[in-house]
Amino acid sequence: MEPTTTVASRLQAVKDRIAKAAQSAGRSPDEITLLVASKTQPPERVREAWQAGQTVFGENYLQEALAKMPALTDLPIEWHFIGPIQSNKTKRITENFVWVHGVDRIKIADRLAKDRPASLPPLQICLQVNVSGEASKSGVAPEELAQLAAHVVRLPRLKLRGLMAVPELTTATALQRSQFHMLWELYDRLKKDGYELDTLSMGMSEDMDIAIAEGATTVRIGTAILGPRRYLIPEELAIQAAKKSVTL
Ligand SMILES: *Cc1c(COP(=O)(O)O)cnc(C)c1O
Repeated sequence: MEPTTTVASRLQAVKDRIAKAAQSAGRSPDEITLLVASKTQPPERVREAWQAGQTVFGENYLQEALAKMPALTDLPIEWHFIGPIQSNKTKRITENFVWVHGVDRIKIADRLAKDRPASLPPLQICLQVNVSGEASKSGVAPEELAQLAAHVVRLPRLKLRGLMAVPELTTATALQRSQFHMLWELYDRLKKDGYELDTLSMGMSEDMDIAIAEGATTVRIGTAILGPRRYLIPEELAIQAAKKSVTL
């Protein structure tokens, strides 16, 4: 990446990519929400993106997010929680975020609903589905999704909006496409069953074009806009360790 590239220019480049992918799929770019994933990035980077016109941001780790937010309270950012959810963190997640993408168990949904402050609008929810079947991945198994959705849609203080997935990290685009397509099919099935859903949250820096072709309505983009992460997140450390043990 050339040192002269700015957050603003990368943001524009990603918007152009979204528009192109949408057009090739016969969709309108307006149907697609861009969420900027700001994990590991300092508040100044978030502010830079805000100044370039970005309003929706996603964080993965509660501690990190809560440390970052005070420096940004002057900006009416729409904060999404996109990371794995531990049950002892639900209270502060539901108090500090507008959306949560990673709901994958009844217990977590119940706790988010119970603690959502009455002064705030309902918490907007996506259910995370494990479309790759990897044991290490968060997400409800596809065959248990219907049951989870039926429970969540009845909870007060939550508004079920759609589904989210992180497919397998692979360069095999056919495999990725089939996992995105599986999520779209599950989404379509729920809608046919009467759920009023409008959000299919899938696609990251590397695979957003395929995700959009497969129906994504929200793409979550980090490095393509904010640059390389400041440090590796646990999932990335695990991948690195796995690679090392293969080469040893
Ligand atoms: C980090 C992250 C992203 C963005 O990833 P990039 O590859 O940096 O675009 C999207 N979704 C989730 C859940 C993430 O953790």
